[in-house]
Amino acid sequence: MIIKNAHCALPGHERLLKRDLRVKDEKICAIAESLVPEAGEELLDAAGLELYPGAIDPHVHFNEPGFTHHEDFYHGSMAAARGGVTTVIDMPCTSLPPVTTLDNLKEKLAVMGGHSVIDYGLYAGVSGNHIEQALAGDMEKLAPEVLGFKCYFVSGMDTFTAVDHYNFGRAIAKAAALKRPLLLHAEDAGVVLPATKAAKERAQTEDREPSWDDYVASRPEAAERVAAAAALTLAQGIEGTLHVVHVGTAEAAELLSKGGASCETCPHYLAFSSEDFAAKGSSLKTAPPVKASGHAQRLWAMLADGRIAFVTSDHAPASYAEKHSGSIWTDYGGIPGTGTVFPYLYSEGYRAGRLSLSALLRATSGAAARRFGLSGGKGSLEPGKDADFILVDPNASYTVRGAELLSKGSITPFEGMKLQGKILATYVRGRPVWKANDANPAAGIVAKVGYGKQLTWGYQ
Ligand SMILES: [Zn+2]
Repeated sequence: MIIKNAHCALPGHERLLKRDLRVKDEKICAIAESLVPEAGEELLDAAGLELYPGAIDPHVHFNEPGFTHHEDFYHGSMAAARGGVTTVIDMPCTSLPPVTTLDNLKEKLAVMGGHSVIDYGLYAGVSGNHIEQALAGDMEKLAPEVLGFKCYFVSGMDTFTAVDHYNFGRAIAKAAALKRPLLLHAEDAGVVLPATKAAKERAQTEDREPSWDDYVASRPEAAERVAAAAALTLAQGIEGTLHVVHVGTAEAAELLSKGGASCETCPHYLAFSSEDFAAKGSSLKTAPPVKASGHAQRLWAMLADGRIAFVTSDHAPASYAEKHSGSIWTDYGGIPGTGTVFPYLYSEGYRAGRLSLSALLRATSGAAARRFGLSGGKGSLEPGKDADFILVDPNASYTVRGAELLSKGSITPFEGMKLQGKILATYVRGRPVWKANDANPAAGIVAKVGYGKQLTWGYQ
């Protein structure tokens, strides 16, 4: 197949270049100013359209098996494809069993392995209640199958508990020896737990309903700063292993960047502040919570110059009932974001002038591919790599509608947001998996269920 006349986002260029691109055997095999079709070769004229490398979302909770009432791989991967994501990496903590042993990982693959319409990788988890077994052998057995390990400094899950500082130090040394990143949910338990207790008591003492201000106060910015500082201190002498997930506090991101650790942020931290809880309510609830106004602008600046490596969705949907449980403390925390990462960054980052073209590419695909061992086959439009790409109509617009995201969850703080540009199609390894279908968004999925395949470290 040849895609003709597309304005292509190629690595090393700060503007789109009009090029033809040939796809053969799932790979990009040539990019040139003009390619002549061979006899019988399929031709797609993309004049006036833009072509981007498929987005990589390396932080999703697709929850299969175990919590599939929230999300499963079929719906999650459809939502991703619709938003231009061609590869996801799934978190180990929100499935049952959690991915803490090789047997558990095999059990997970046996259940969800045939359900994805896009490519995927997995992380393994280092849970506090399983730490000795993890260090004694489970991490080593899991390493060949996974793209990193994940742990928490504070966790709300009984099935996957936090590690303390001491065991974090042991876990990062082990991850480094196994040459895999250690991902950390960096809010410190020593701040969050007493702050949460105090915030709950305050509402009771004052004899009033708890408010979103109480929720924000329950997980203060200091929790991220303390956690980042502790993690850097404990990781001293261990190069290139620490990766901090979903940073919302600008000072924490600055600290991590100075300390040589990588970190990610999410669109909700770039788009919203804690003042937005008044209007958005539980649709905005996630942990860490979005921060006071002013942080977002600084996060954008750090994303633009690479101090923040990339953007992930932290995709974690829930039903209407779970998002409206009757109390801010029990409303489900999580946003179904995998479908809006690329559209949001394209519009509010690149088109709005906050991100250069190269920064957009780094944030949506290139940096994550490098960080998680996939850059031999994914992450940019280059001959030899997988033909994963997004066709965008730059002159159309896209209004986010939760009900049309294809996820099991439809409650999003981005509801009604009008974005510049519209994704017309998403291709994975040369095949269209999503084609815009305004009349019936679900019919836009044109890939076979199970088309997606598992990616492991060093994928080419
Ligand atoms: Zn997460």
